[in-house]
Amino acid sequence: MSTGTESTYPAVYDLIGIGFGPSNIAISGALVEKWTALSNRVLFIEKHPSFQWHPGMLLPGAQMQISFMKDLATLRSPQSPLTFVNYLHSQGRLSAFINRGSLTPSRKEFADYLGWAARYVEAQGVNVNYGQEVVAINESMDGLITVTSITLADGKLNSFITRNLVVSPGGRARIPNVVVPFIKEPSIVARSTLLHSSEYKHRIGELLESITSERQRPLRIAVIGGGQSAAEVTMNLHGLLNDIPAGDGPIGHQVDMLLRKGSLKPSDDTPFSNEIFDPEVTNDWFSTSEQGRERIMAEYKATNYSVVNPRTIDALYEIIYDQEVDEAIGARDSTVFTPHPRITIRSHMHIPSLKYDTGSKKFVFTLQNVRTREVFENESYDAVVCATGYQRNSWTKMLRASDRLGKRFGIDDSASDIPIKLVPFAQRVADTANLDQPQDSPLSSVSSTPTSVVTTPPISPGAENVVKQESSPTEVVKLYITRNYRLLPMASTKTMQDGSAEGLKARIYIQGLEESTHGLSDTLLSVVSCRAGEVVDDLLNND
Ligand SMILES: Cc1cc2nc3c(=O)[nH]c(=O)nc-3n(C[C@H](O)[C@H](O)[C@H](O)COP(=O)(O)OP(=O)(O)OC[C@H]3O[C@@H](n4cnc5c(N)ncnc54)[C@H](O)[C@@H]3O)c2cc1C
Repeated sequence: MSTGTESTYPAVYDLIGIGFGPSNIAISGALVEKWTALSNRVLFIEKHPSFQWHPGMLLPGAQMQISFMKDLATLRSPQSPLTFVNYLHSQGRLSAFINRGSLTPSRKEFADYLGWAARYVEAQGVNVNYGQEVVAINESMDGLITVTSITLADGKLNSFITRNLVVSPGGRARIPNVVVPFIKEPSIVARSTLLHSSEYKHRIGELLESITSERQRPLRIAVIGGGQSAAEVTMNLHGLLNDIPAGDGPIGHQVDMLLRKGSLKPSDDTPFSNEIFDPEVTNDWFSTSEQGRERIMAEYKATNYSVVNPRTIDALYEIIYDQEVDEAIGARDSTVFTPHPRITIRSHMHIPSLKYDTGSKKFVFTLQNVRTREVFENESYDAVVCATGYQRNSWTKMLRASDRLGKRFGIDDSASDIPIKLVPFAQRVADTANLDQPQDSPLSSVSSTPTSVVTTPPISPGAENVVKQESSPTEVVKLYITRNYRLLPMASTKTMQDGSAEGLKARIYIQGLEESTHGLSDTLLSVVSCRAGEVVDDLLNND
């Protein structure tokens, strides 16, 4: 990997990775299997203080949505020491896991496996700086990349130089526009009773304590969203509220799920649909036209987005049905029941406005049924949980802000409102020649090895891949990416204004951020092991 030309630097890393989640652990696992000369030259920077995997949603009983064989290594190399089977064996639970008769581990066990894998690669010489957040990347004077991180415990700034960068930061909480003003200002009192599902487990205890007054009363909590996290949070809240007295009145605590759709929809993980997550399909996605990819995405959306696992749906339905049984018995026998927390699914709900009443310390919603147009004013809730998913654009902000480096890829801060769009490398050839979109190739008829894909394009100074980056009529900045997840700089250095001589020598890869070009698997674990192997092969290739 080292070119040997930058040896004057005291600490030049061969590879720095932003984040140390499954994507980058898989990369370090593939790397340590191949790279014998591993000597302190690989560094991952992770903002968590120690290894953690979605800790805010590590709820009791939560199950993985995927087979254990879609771990960090098996599909790439079943012989790897990093497989889930090897983890089970090391923990003395292999037989017991087999006896369960299920391919899906609990989320708790999978998180423990990932932590075990992280410790394994660290023991092989991979460095991980936990507790540091990468805040900036830029180009160093000789075409490498400077990475700046902040140590979260004391605010200290750290600077590193690397020949290669892998950006794998996962997603950040997506907050509905109507809620954003309350999140943005952490000092306002409303923030303490508002949370995103990604922080649910850490904050819910304190939140419930803060709204549970000495005078017992029924609490009312809104969960915004209709996907897996929303369903899990709703059921968990139901359990927690069961232990909080609601007073002597006839009304118990209430958890309302506010969703746009008419009902909770099941995730499709049936065998034929599941083939969309096979590693081989990545080639097909990548070589299909933009319209083709959008069409496939729409067709298969229900495998992953705004859907709930059928097991979870059954469990939630059972709770709601049981409420009805209790209420019917109570009404008929005039028995005084201790009211249980009640879950209500409020479907077709749009939220035109949200306020916070500092007197009552409640959020006050205006809700509108998008089907009937009926408006519900003054809907008060003691707390709000946004189970509204994740967005994956933090890395583009960093690239935009990096000025010199961003310009290498045709983007800079001056166009900060223009969206960045990833485009397969092959499209650049067409764009350059000002051709129309290539022929759409239906997924089923695309060959598994696209001939038009260049996996190791030249990145050296004077390379021939100089392209004028143009915004399409709908104003997007195109960022070209190879099949092996490498971002392509647009030009050699003559476009740079500071007179620096050389082109960009460093390579930048992204992981988990390229769903639009590499397919639905991308934000999931499905192909994490295979693509890690592809990135490492590309990294070790000095072409
Ligand atoms: C609750 C939940 C359950 C899920 N369950 C499944 C499942 O069952 N099956 C499945 O296939 N997928 C599942 N997913 C999807 C999930 O995205 C993937 O499983 C996987 O976590 C993706 O790995 P990653 O490394 O790309 O991203 P992440 O796991 O998000 O890891 C990224 C890491 O980068 C760190 N980071 C981010 N920015 C910075 C920065 N600037 N500086 C330093 N560190 C940074 C983060 O702290 C994080 O540790 C689930 C997601 C959630 C939220």
